[in-house]
This record gives sequence, structure tokens and C-alpha cells, in this order.
Amino acid sequence: MIDFTFTEEQEMFRKAAREFAETQVAPKVAEMETTGEVCDEVVKALGEAEMMALTIPEEYGGLGLGYTARLIALEEISKVSVGTAMMLQVFALGIEPIIKFGTEEQKKKYLPALAKGERLASTAVTEATGGSDPTGIRTSYRKEGNDYILNGRKCFITNSHIADTITTLAKDNENPKAYSTFILEKGMDGFKPTHKEHKLGMRGCNTGELAFENCRVSGENLVGEEGKGMRVALGAIGDVGRGGMVGCALGLQAACLEASVKFATERILYGKPISNLQTIQNKLAEMKIDLEAGRLLGYRAAAIQDKGGRSSNEFAVAKYFTTEAAQKAAKMAVDIHGGYGCMEEYAVSRYLRDSFVLGPSAGTSDIMKVIIARWVLS
Ligand SMILES: Cc1cc2nc3c(=O)[nH]c(=O)nc-3n(C[C@H](O)[C@H](O)[C@H](O)COP(=O)(O)OP(=O)(O)OC[C@H]3O[C@@H](n4cnc5c(N)ncnc54)[C@H](O)[C@@H]3O)c2cc1C
Repeated sequence: MIDFTFTEEQEMFRKAAREFAETQVAPKVAEMETTGEVCDEVVKALGEAEMMALTIPEEYGGLGLGYTARLIALEEISKVSVGTAMMLQVFALGIEPIIKFGTEEQKKKYLPALAKGERLASTAVTEATGGSDPTGIRTSYRKEGNDYILNGRKCFITNSHIADTITTLAKDNENPKAYSTFILEKGMDGFKPTHKEHKLGMRGCNTGELAFENCRVSGENLVGEEGKGMRVALGAIGDVGRGGMVGCALGLQAACLEASVKFATERILYGKPISNLQTIQNKLAEMKIDLEAGRLLGYRAAAIQDKGGRSSNEFAVAKYFTTEAAQKAAKMAVDIHGGYGCMEEYAVSRYLRDSFVLGPSAGTSDIMKVIIARWVLS
């Protein structure tokens, strides 16, 4: 039997995540949009609320609640701040290689502090020469005894300047077809964050560049087998990366609908609220249809993942649908607000900017279609 309902625990968790977002994140949104960082108070509160612990197994200090819970948390937080949700999404993406492919020593060393939010995480795959095509990356490593020496630059990295533990992908400079994944730690010699980006949207979180200059990484920090790193990195992006972006997109869709319903029922034209106008009602109905459909796609993929299956194809469908729907919803929300929608004091103008930044992260819509077509044709 297919059960389309959330459990009582999941409903309670959603309520708690919503309260958390409204009380701990919402008051800081304006500040974070200006500074381009998730502020320390929010990071601390996320840690205390165990939001970083969701996907970490209990034996390593996590909650082991899984991917449905993570999607619920991201949806509720993104409804208030897409930037904060993005910070949290890439945190989980960064630690996934350690959870799935890490040695016992690596898990014991890194996961407990990450679960408490005492350390922050990220993943660094993209480079100027390798985004949609990760085989184009140029960051390379060479072996020196038990160590690896990394050289190169990563761009568009979420949490670039605040992460303490970063999983990264590099290619073997003697065998350009072999890639390996490494754990980097803040403060390692030859490793530093450089340029900070100023983004179109999702401004409330940090995105930037990382540089490796003869960065010496111990063999103990190799994740998975040497030369098999592409599978480690892409596996995490496929499930956790795409899944996280679905959570961010669903939250934004829900925020657009809620703001539009509020405005449409309060704005009086011709002596009546504009919610009486059929054109406005059509937009609200379309937003609701897309939100419900997106939720079904996203939570279904998360449920498959929670049962131990791979759901990267299902998440490709959900990511394509929800990120495109979020853009559509944000445009309709701005339209419903008339001139007010173009003013900064109305959140829908931020939603529109944010909606455009959801697309590229964890793979563009074009790439989702490539993946979906490959799935269909196989
Ligand atoms: C806000 C933000 C946060 C990010 N955070 C991270 C992070 O934490 N870590 C990380 O590693 N990366 C991160 N990224 C990078 C992101 O994964 C890449 O931007 C994305 O994979 C696209 O790569 P690109 O920007 O190089 O675009 P390109 O790959 O250069 O794509 C350019 C255009 O070509 C199209 N295209 C490319 N290939 C094909 C194809 N085969 N068929 C059809 N069309 C194609 C694309 O759809 C796009 O329209 C982030 C990006 C953003 C915007």
C-alpha cells in the first residue's frame, strides 16, 4: 500500500522546524541579506536545534532521522530564508561522502563535532573549467609518500569562508582520468578561501572561491578509494545535493503562495480584495498545483532514499520541477503584488532573485533533463 501521509513524528518535526525558522531565522533575514553570511547566532541556533545532525547516524552523534526529515527542515527554513537553507543543504552535501564512504576513523574524527554544529561543512567540486562537466576540473594532486599535494582553484562554493571541513574533488596529475575525494580542514597549509561572490539572489549565505597551493593532505584524509573519487562526489550530489535543492525550492514556492494569498486578500481594488479577480485566483491555483505536485515528487524521492534505495533520478525530476516551479511562482507573486512587488520592502522581490539562483546549484535544469532522458532511454 502506498502511504501518502506524514507520520505523527514527522508532523511534529515540521511544526518544530517551522517555529524554529520563524523565531530564530526570520528576525535575522534582513541582516544576513546585507552581510552575505548566515550570521553566527543563526548558525549557533541551528546547531542547538540539532539541524546539522539530521542525516548523521546516531553512533556518530547524529539523529539519524534521514532524508524526509531533512527535506521537511529545509522546506520550512527556506520558506523564511533560502540563504540559510542553502547553507544547511551544502553542509549535508559536504559530509555525505564521509558518511557513505569514510573510514571508521574519519567518521569518529569528523562527524560528532559536525553533528553539534561546532564545525561547519561544505563540498568543493565546481571550477571555472568544470561545472556541468566535472571531468573538466583542473585541480590536481600528486602523491608524496603517504601525502597528496593539491593545486588548483574551486569556484561558486557555498560556505567557502565559514566551513571548517570541506570534501573536495581533484584529479591525479599522472592519470587525468583518475579523480579522488579528500577531506580538507580549515587552516591547512596551502589552503585558503579567496574571493567572495556577490550573488543575484540567495544573498543571505556565503559563496566564494577556494585556492589550493601545494596544499599537503594526509592519506588519512582520502575518502573512498584513490582514483574512484568521481563516484563519491557525484553520488552525494545526485541524492543529497539535488534533494537539498528540492527542499530549498519547495520552501520558496510555499513562501510565494503565502505572501500572495496575504496580499491578494488585503489589497482592495474596485471596493473589493483582488482575491476576487479571476486572474489572481488562477495564479494562486497554479502556485498551489505546482507546490502540491513538487511535494509529491520530492517527498517520494526522499522516502525511497530513507528505505535505502538510490533516488538520484527521482530527485532529478523533482529538482527540475520544483526549481522551475519556484521561478514561476516567484514571478506570479511579484505580478500579484503589482508595483509593490518591485519594492525591496516586499519579500517577493527577494523571492524572485532567489528563485533564479536555485537553478544552477547541484546541476542546471538542462543537466536534469540530460539525466532524466538517460534514465528514460536506459
Ligand atoms: C549559489 C550557488 C551555489 C553553489 N554551490 C556550490 C558548492 O557548494 N559546491 C560546488 O562544487 N559547486 C557549487 N555551485 C556550482 C554549481 O554546481 C554549478 O554552477 C553548476 O553545476 C553549473 O556549472 P557552471 O556554472 O559551470 O555552468 P556550465 O556548466 O558552464 O553551464 C553553462 C550552460 O550550459 C548548459 N549546459 C552545460 N552542459 C550541458 C549539456 N550537456 N546539455 C545541455 N546544456 C548544457 C547549462 O545548463 C548552462 O545553461 C554553486 C552554484 C551556485 C549558483
